[in-house]
Amino acid sequence: MATLAYDCWLQCARGCDGRYPVTQVIYQCPKCGGLLEVQHDMAALKQHSGAEWRALFEGRTRTNQWPYGSGVWGKKEWVLPALDDDHIVSMYEGHTNLFWAQRLGTELGVEDLWVKLCGNSHTGSFKDLGMTVLVSAVNQMIASGSSVRAVACASTGDTSAALAAYGAAAGIPTIVFLPRDKVSPAQLIQPIANGALVLALDTDFDGCMALVKEVTQDNSIYLANSMNSLRIEGQKTVGIEIVQQFDWQVPDWIIIPVGNLGNISALGKGLLMMHELGLIDRLPALVAAQAERANPFYRSYQRGFESLEPMHAGETVATAIQIGNPVSYERAVKVMRRFEGCVEQASEDEIAEATARADLTGMYTCPHTGVALAALFKLIDRGQVKPSDRVVVISTAHGLKFSPFKIAYHENRLPGIQARRPNPPVQLPAEAGAVRDAVQRFLDSRA
Ligand SMILES: *Cc1c(COP(=O)(O)O)cnc(C)c1O
Ligand SMILES: [Zn+2]
Repeated sequence: MATLAYDCWLQCARGCDGRYPVTQVIYQCPKCGGLLEVQHDMAALKQHSGAEWRALFEGRTRTNQWPYGSGVWGKKEWVLPALDDDHIVSMYEGHTNLFWAQRLGTELGVEDLWVKLCGNSHTGSFKDLGMTVLVSAVNQMIASGSSVRAVACASTGDTSAALAAYGAAAGIPTIVFLPRDKVSPAQLIQPIANGALVLALDTDFDGCMALVKEVTQDNSIYLANSMNSLRIEGQKTVGIEIVQQFDWQVPDWIIIPVGNLGNISALGKGLLMMHELGLIDRLPALVAAQAERANPFYRSYQRGFESLEPMHAGETVATAIQIGNPVSYERAVKVMRRFEGCVEQASEDEIAEATARADLTGMYTCPHTGVALAALFKLIDRGQVKPSDRVVVISTAHGLKFSPFKIAYHENRLPGIQARRPNPPVQLPAEAGAVRDAVQRFLDSRA
């Protein structure tokens, strides 16, 4: 494939005119205050056929040719073509495995069930996909003399872990704003270990978000939250990867847990771009899954996406999506209107049982993946998902980041939840007779 000059820029997602370089410190439209989005020069990209793009992406998959072996940078022309390869900060994110959930699928009567394990990544969540793009752009800004001195974000745990890791890899000072006692120990120790300034604040995510916005107003600290549209460009590769992993066949359903709504916006953007550029000829149905206690998107969907009513997000085991005022609401509505599908919600009990049930078939699911699975169970019960449908559940984080939740479940001490599948360790004296009895009871219960 001949190398063409590709271009992209920031523009208002609501349609005001004005174009801004992707390396400018700007997060919102100066005219209307709405979010910006990265717009690619689609005419230039269209000079290649869908088949040519497929072959290019396929040929780069997992190679060691810097940085194209990364799942994100293998699609660099579609992500941020203007970055110098030397400024890219990558941990070879992406290309996570798409797991055939055969046993769970058989139980559910939907045999073609797959789980995209985005948590099998450098910092254990899909947030790496977006952070490689944002930190690479900042790295290029600093190299070309920008006054940016540091990067910062508010986080429910996974964004800060990703930012701290990529920031440390680039040598860029990183500041993270976390709601105190609301992130898991694994999520807290990641930015600590990576040398970030970790601010544990006496508020929730929405409170952290308000503070980080205020502190980053002078433009010397670059804001890495998902209002920043550069992250979307990396996160959008997840949909492209899923389709590629099915030999460029489009699944019937993709189900994803949502909070701030950047991820669903990105998933939709990637799929729409593939469609427009001729890599695929149809679109999957998308399901956005929320925790009932933090469900502003679900409520808005119930009213035909008439408006967003920000809410106080209640405590949920799905801590990474405990968000009451989602930043990317408008982006996500735009996406949902282009796809078939729906928004679903799950109660705390449904989330906990969905994770426990999936784990019994060999997975180790985080609570957010549990939200998506619980949504799937409902769609199957209602007959919306058919037995012959191909379904992909996006697992957004690694279960190992959320072991305290799993321990509490199996010790049956999750507040308000009666565990139906607890499997606590059997405490025994070190005697062969007692052990033999316990083994016998276990085998009888499984017979
Ligand atoms: C961030 C996150 C989500 C939600 O993504 P949004 O872009 O905020 O909607 C879901 N699951 C996990 C594990 C996350 O870290
Ligand atoms: Zn505008």
